[in-house]
Amino acid sequence: MLEIDSLTVSVDGEVILENLDLHIGMGEVHVLFGPNGSGKSTLLKTVLGLPGYRVLSGSIKFKGKDITDLPVNERVELGLALEYQNPPPIAGLKLQDLVDLISKESGSEVDDMVEKLNLEQHMNREVNVGFSGGEVKRSEVLQVYSQNPDLILFDEPDSGVDVENVELLGKIINEMLDKKKKPSDRRRSGLIITHHGSILDLVEVDRAHVLYNGAIMCSGKPREILEEIIENGYENCAKCYRIEQ
Ligand code: ADP
Ligand code: MG
Ligand code: MG
Repeated sequence: MLEIDSLTVSVDGEVILENLDLHIGMGEVHVLFGPNGSGKSTLLKTVLGLPGYRVLSGSIKFKGKDITDLPVNERVELGLALEYQNPPPIAGLKLQDLVDLISKESGSEVDDMVEKLNLEQHMNREVNVGFSGGEVKRSEVLQVYSQNPDLILFDEPDSGVDVENVELLGKIINEMLDKKKKPSDRRRSGLIITHHGSILDLVEVDRAHVLYNGAIMCSGKPREILEEIIENGYENCAKCYRIEQ
């Protein structure tokens, strides 16, 4: 589904990601851990192709197609979606109108999701204007769902969100990522940035990676990696090489 090879990326002339490799198979869900400022959001924004994230070398393939130089709208058209860490408020645009604009799902499926996400009361409000932390994240998840993507990149869906909202979001993310379907029927993949174990309790995650100093430092089983981080800190994460598969 996603093949990132030897990717080096600069922002504002500074190299943020260096020689980064990451592969995600069809139907797989991976999590990405890493300290603040290690380049996690930069990676997701580069995969989406946002302006300002300059690929100096390496390649990004999505569903077998090289998308390294494609504009963002073409990547979205191919089935890529990003749930933003800190989406801006959009004064003058109602959430309902935005969802109608980007929607590739049928109206009734979107309406069902609005209900599941408890967003009925918010559809006529301006996007993110005065939204609470939980409302912002629920609105983001609704937007990515509406696009009916094949690969969803989640940038800290659980940050700034209370326990009840984390539970709701986690369950819906698990469902959106086809984890309730049998493995042979899973068509969607995901990459989730998180700092917490709660996502691992709620979403069936196949593999975890640690991004450190702009590269994937280690990969392995999600629980084991998280325990290593909690025990030893990111800075000693070299230890997680011993649990690499
Ligand atoms: P993370 O998501 O892991 O916390 P980011 O990808 O947001 O980290 O940031 C990685 C590094 O890139 C940080 O040092 C950050 O300051 C820098 N950076 C990210 N975006 C920009 C930008 N638009 N301009 C300048 N520096 C940036
Ligand atoms: Mg951060
Ligand atoms: Mg970030």
